[in-house]
Amino acid sequence: MIGLVAATANGRRNATHLAEAWPDVRLYEGGPKEALRQAWMECDGIVAFLAVGAAVRLVAPLLVDKRSDPGVVCVDDAGRFAVALTGGHRETGGANTLAGRVADALGAEPIITTASDTLNVPALDSLGADLGFDIEEGSDLASVGAAMVSGERVNLVSDYRWPIGPLPENVGSTDEMAAPMILISDRTTNVPHPSVVYRPSSLIVGVGCSRGAECREILKFVRSSLSEAGLSEKSIAALASVDAKSDEAGLLEAALALNVPMRFHPAATLAEMGVPNPSEVVERAVGTPSVAEAAVVAEGADLIAEKRKSAMATVAVGRLPVRGRLFVVGLGPGDEALIPSLARDALARSELIVGLDQYVDRVRHLLRPGTQISTPPLGEEIKRAKLALDEARAGGSVALVSSGDAGVYAMASPALELAEDDVDVISIPGITASQASASLLGSPLGHDHASISLSDLLTPWAVIEARLEAAAAGDFVLTLYNPRSKGRDWQLGKAQEILLRHRPPETPVGVVREAYRPKQSVSITYLASMNPDDVDMLTTVIVGSSRTVVRAGRMVTPRGYEV
Ligand code: SAH
Repeated sequence: MIGLVAATANGRRNATHLAEAWPDVRLYEGGPKEALRQAWMECDGIVAFLAVGAAVRLVAPLLVDKRSDPGVVCVDDAGRFAVALTGGHRETGGANTLAGRVADALGAEPIITTASDTLNVPALDSLGADLGFDIEEGSDLASVGAAMVSGERVNLVSDYRWPIGPLPENVGSTDEMAAPMILISDRTTNVPHPSVVYRPSSLIVGVGCSRGAECREILKFVRSSLSEAGLSEKSIAALASVDAKSDEAGLLEAALALNVPMRFHPAATLAEMGVPNPSEVVERAVGTPSVAEAAVVAEGADLIAEKRKSAMATVAVGRLPVRGRLFVVGLGPGDEALIPSLARDALARSELIVGLDQYVDRVRHLLRPGTQISTPPLGEEIKRAKLALDEARAGGSVALVSSGDAGVYAMASPALELAEDDVDVISIPGITASQASASLLGSPLGHDHASISLSDLLTPWAVIEARLEAAAAGDFVLTLYNPRSKGRDWQLGKAQEILLRHRPPETPVGVVREAYRPKQSVSITYLASMNPDDVDMLTTVIVGSSRTVVRAGRMVTPRGYEV
């Protein structure tokens, strides 16, 4: 039983509200001291409509053992906050969960101070929002949220795996419909409380109708078809039909009323879809043997409720396959401040991070509790790409990380070469070594420029040499990536030789090692005097064009303005 104790008119009003909203509560009348003492003996949990200070004084002499004392929640006079005061983690009547329930009922904010991991846990009110999840009315957001942050076991029940991102360890996948629970489903079922029910945007409703069919009839029929199939209207992703109906007022209005997009397909496309219930009558009328079922299939959905007919309409329902998510994330050159916030969001929303050890190490502190990490070593690029893709294909959300920009001599290309159209790929741009080095040198990329990697591990040296020649002849400023390593020690000298045939010996050259990292070094030299021994794999070399100058110690390639 939950005991309610109030001292003021506002407190009593809120207490009465709870007493009406909940079963098994008792409002303790009389002075707060006596009321609280009485409730302490009889209840598992107590909601005290008192200032925290007053509640602390009254509760203090009663405290015995946190495992057996009732959980106490304090609510301020304005009903804005529900503070879990003592007995936070207890299973029944625990103050953390109780604070959540109070917050749900009063529209207050739960204040939970016990959990060490209150930060970094996804907010339930926005979970899956980017996937189009809709929260079912009556969901107990605050109670389940409180259970989640206080480390209590929360059951995650989902028909499919969704790329919702990492969840803390106390949230476990199960088939057991037991509270506190997070349910992700387009099926209508009874849920225990407290639960949060998410409706994914997963259903396609195929609709055919006769000319002049009224919105009211279509809507009613769509709704009854869904409810008979045990499916939630909130999960409708779109209505679909044949394009001959694109001006059918009732149909357009129905989509508007349901607040979902209306999609049309040509009859010829629909005619090609394999469906269980084709009809010759329909074929004669619109040129395809099926509209409702075929439109579902044409949307890429699996038919889960075959065609039904009302007087003027036909309806069929399909479910879209879940699309997992691959984030391709560039982490910039090194400094944490150069990791864009989009990249931080992507990392926080990924259940699995795949990348080289040294890159993953840079972002471990940005990952959510429960995030998995995989770091196949250098040379296993294809393995890394496949690993990330497999997880995304299974409905997961994965981040494949690279330094700089992931699309520049990095993991985006191998991953996208392998990726089919069954996953969503989201690329987050990063600051490249070229950009980072250029900013440290001055403004060497102010006019046309090119990048060439001097690594001949994947590209034959003859090709690299031809590109060096062409870029030199074109008078491009040149960024040289992978300029030199222990096993590749002659390529930079050779490049220098080629460039010297096209550019004067005093052409400025910027040499940047470990840009935006603690051991950063930046120097400006000249094409003839550059010493390849000063360069290694952690270095980017920028060779100026014939116009590039050194001004006040900075490398500048003029844009051509009169200055
Ligand atoms: N995706 C990366 C490039 C990876 S190739 C990007 O967009 O920047 C690896 C090469 O990048 C290195 O050999 C070096 O030439 C250059 N590089 C990467 N990080 C660097 C840094 N912090 N400072 C200087 N050069 C860097």
